[in-house]
Amino acid sequence: MDYHAFLSQFPDTYIGRGRTDRREIALTFDDGPGLATSALLAILREYDVQATFFCLGEKARGVPDMVRAIARDGHEVGNHGFTHRDVRALDPETFWMTEVLPARSLLEDVAGTPVALFRPPFGEISPAQTARLAEEGVTLVGWSIDPRDWDEVEAKDHAGRVVRDVLEQVHPGAIVLLHDGDEGERARPAIVEIVRHVVPALWAMGFSFVTAGRLWEAR
Ligand SMILES: [Zn+2]
Repeated sequence: MDYHAFLSQFPDTYIGRGRTDRREIALTFDDGPGLATSALLAILREYDVQATFFCLGEKARGVPDMVRAIARDGHEVGNHGFTHRDVRALDPETFWMTEVLPARSLLEDVAGTPVALFRPPFGEISPAQTARLAEEGVTLVGWSIDPRDWDEVEAKDHAGRVVRDVLEQVHPGAIVLLHDGDEGERARPAIVEIVRHVVPALWAMGFSFVTAGRLWEAR
């Protein structure tokens, strides 16, 4: 079943978009921290925009200062699991004990903030795993706009294409899926340029930026 159709059956656990009566949207960055994260934080600071970073435990472990910097800049730290695997083959308890809990503990330790949000790698999670997270009071965060910023990164005008995709799909309450994790061994090349252009364009359309947690609280 489609990820969003399936998870929309769990309205008390899952958010795929915010309210549609406010021109608020959430930018989310997955798979980091990565080599591009520091420059991304700088542009977000320049714009005074707060976002949500779904960090991986195995990445965060090597760069705890970067997780601290994310939190210190007023961004929200979310949990993207420990190893970025398709977790559906794991029984719910193993999933919780090996992927969700260790990443959350590590992120909470280094960020010094509670980490209440979880986004499954690839957006893939089983009904039993979802029920396990619901039991623990974890909120699952999906997305409503996927501009595929990981796709054809070498293409000419890749950043421009991603920006246009966001602007074409944008709607009140949007949750935008982007990535600051590395592209193999390299810094994700275009994320800073994408953000540099998409934020002012969205402002011009009357949108403001909030964290995914804020969209959840206001739902
Ligand atoms: Zn991911």
